[in-house]
Amino acid sequence: MPEPVTLLLTDADWILTMDEKRRVIKNGAIAIKDDRIVEIGHTADICKKFSAPTMRSLPGRLIMPGLVDGHIHSSFQLSRGLADEVGSQKFLFQRMYPYEGYLNPEQSYWSTALCALEELRHGVTCMIDPGNYSPEETVQALSTSGIRAVIAKSAMDIAKSSFGSLPATFVETTEEALQRSEAVVQKFHQSENGRIRVSLSFRGVNNASDALISRMRQMAEHYQIGFQAHACFAKETRDSSVGGTGYTEVERLNRLGALGPNLLLIHMGWATPTELLMLRDHDVKVVAAPSSSFHNGYGNVTMGKIPELLAMGVSVGLGSDHASSGIVDLVQEMRMAAGGYKEVRMDAAIMAPETLVEMATLHGSRCAWWDDEIGALVPGKKADLAVFDTRSPEWQPLYNPVANLVYSATGSSVDMVLVNGRIVVDQGEVLTLNANEIYDNVKRVIPEILQQTGLEEIAQTRWPIE
Ligand SMILES: [Zn+2]
Repeated sequence: MPEPVTLLLTDADWILTMDEKRRVIKNGAIAIKDDRIVEIGHTADICKKFSAPTMRSLPGRLIMPGLVDGHIHSSFQLSRGLADEVGSQKFLFQRMYPYEGYLNPEQSYWSTALCALEELRHGVTCMIDPGNYSPEETVQALSTSGIRAVIAKSAMDIAKSSFGSLPATFVETTEEALQRSEAVVQKFHQSENGRIRVSLSFRGVNNASDALISRMRQMAEHYQIGFQAHACFAKETRDSSVGGTGYTEVERLNRLGALGPNLLLIHMGWATPTELLMLRDHDVKVVAAPSSSFHNGYGNVTMGKIPELLAMGVSVGLGSDHASSGIVDLVQEMRMAAGGYKEVRMDAAIMAPETLVEMATLHGSRCAWWDDEIGALVPGKKADLAVFDTRSPEWQPLYNPVANLVYSATGSSVDMVLVNGRIVVDQGEVLTLNANEIYDNVKRVIPEILQQTGLEEIAQTRWPIE
């Protein structure tokens, strides 16, 4: 008698398992029971061994572990077009912080819903959000969407650095920042049957006091969760740190005893050699976000040391960062990271497609502190996976699926997505969210946001509109 499971995916042309041997299975099938993978193999073998009430035959498809977006500001999803052609200082202090500072809870909800819609549509099953000031609405939208997420409440207790001044609404005392962050952990960590986890976020190293960083580290250890911050994002953040404290950002974190496997640092494009060694020695997790640097020229690829960090054994995930830099598509992010390093190093062999897929899955799962359950298609792990339909021009001819995925495809060829064994995207449609309702509400709240922030004129093309 065949063993009963809940779902069988069969006849897939390709399965990228991302298991220890990185096996690629042709004409493959996956047996899923509830939220977990039971077995992976050739279709003929799996069909002999298992039976399921739901069977989906997937010829012409490629199945891989769901992508992990290691860094995405869900609250920035409504800022597409608000921060173009501006350097790092202007980007943050004249565009994104005013936008975020005015965002009310309802606008945050629609921003997050749109973000989850785009992520799922492009095959992302887990996202790490550095946090905002409406964590309730963030969790509400993410819970509905069915995506897996590590969220946070943003915390900053230093208003001014040589880099710029924060809007008044962002700045909290150290005590307020800690208490509010802890309240979010207590309320939402492990909610939605464990699908939503909470981390702590001191947002930017230069906007966090020594006390905030040290006590967040203690709190992260107490709750056995991760904590995260942006670091080494631009030349200005490094200069601001050295000018203000006498230390580079990672050196300062090291002095505070904050470096460890539960710390995630985002960007790290401007890290010094000493800082790179500190990351390795303390098993700090890193997420690189090439598209945001490509968008406004922060130098994260030109100055970046991602190939070196990977060679040193550091876990480096990929992040799309935000919709204000255009794409929220981790497949395109892989292409940018590959192409970016090849170009600036003038080295065709650097950043092979296999490396990029490892970053977007295995490394991403480590950055989310979730690698015991996600990041690979292995029996016992969560059934989080992305199915690409290869029956389209950009996938042809198809003999090297890893190369086609990184160099040719986009997330738009994602056909089906499963999170926790549940089909949340089918035939390219996100089942958990009402896309038209989201678009209508986004259209409704955008004029309010533009008016509130005074960015109405900036949000227009330079060409005359009649
Ligand atoms: Zn960011």
